[in-house]
Amino acid sequence: MTPQRLHIAIQKSGRLAEKSLDLIRDAGFRLQRSASDLSYSVENAPIDLWCVRDDDIPTFVADGVADFGIVGRNVLGERVAGPAAPRLAEVMPLGFGRCRLCLAAPDGFSYAGRASLRGVRIATSYPNLLRQFLNQEGIDAEIVTMRGAVEVAPRLGLAEAICDLVSTGATLEANGLEALDTIFESEAVLVRSSKVFEGTLARTAESLVTRLRGVIASQDAKYVMMNAPRTALAEIARILPGAAAPTVIPLAGRDDLVAVHAVCQESVFWETLEALKAVGASAILVLPIEKIM
Ligand code: ATP
Ligand code: ZN
Repeated sequence: MTPQRLHIAIQKSGRLAEKSLDLIRDAGFRLQRSASDLSYSVENAPIDLWCVRDDDIPTFVADGVADFGIVGRNVLGERVAGPAAPRLAEVMPLGFGRCRLCLAAPDGFSYAGRASLRGVRIATSYPNLLRQFLNQEGIDAEIVTMRGAVEVAPRLGLAEAICDLVSTGATLEANGLEALDTIFESEAVLVRSSKVFEGTLARTAESLVTRLRGVIASQDAKYVMMNAPRTALAEIARILPGAAAPTVIPLAGRDDLVAVHAVCQESVFWETLEALKAVGASAILVLPIEKIM
């Protein structure tokens, strides 16, 4: 019997497409593109990728047509905040495609906190997330739903403010708009359907999630080595970011000094190295980590 294949829906083209493919490759899956360009098959595991519009990903995964999906948390959140809660869940954030859903208005809009939105017309492609926010804040405002080009709504007189995705803010600026407030933080996330996987599918799903977790965990992680006075060990453990108990190794002929090795799960900045030096560490090395499991 040929093994059942796991299906992952990813964005066909756009901001998440390349990075989704890179992530899956980094997890050790070798991709073979189909002639139609609409899918990839994984050569070394029973997995197929389907390339679709990002807006369709929550539906495909909720309906069980795809088992997993990679999509912006904004797209997932908009569906989850909608009337019929879909049968899917976020498995983990993936560390790319970061953006914010922001309230913005033309320069000169007098904004003195969220109460200033009372009675204002707000154009957005995210009516469910915006409604949820307005309800939570107890603000009575009008939502104007648009499919795209939300940033032109104030100029066309369709709305006084907008609620749209922002990453650098360049698009807002180019349209004479100013960000007022963030209502939702987003990045690409792995989603899975709520169906129960069995047999091969269950094993493949587990391997996929474990490997992706490993890739994500190793992205910022560093292996840090240094020599340090024995007396500074407690201080060093406190300084190292996101490190479990470090390994302490005696140095030949030195009772006062030890070598300290640690895996840091968070970024190691120059400030961290300076702090380590300040408590007496020397010969500090920071190495990248390729895989963590
Ligand atoms: P599709 O053709 O798949 O429907 P799209 O035009 O809806 O594509 P993109 O513009 O490619 O989508 O954005 C995909 C996702 O990238 C967004 O849903 C969001 O999660 C993320 N993203 C990151 N930065 C931004 C940004 N500045 N503007 C819009 N989306 C962003
Ligand atoms: Zn889309």
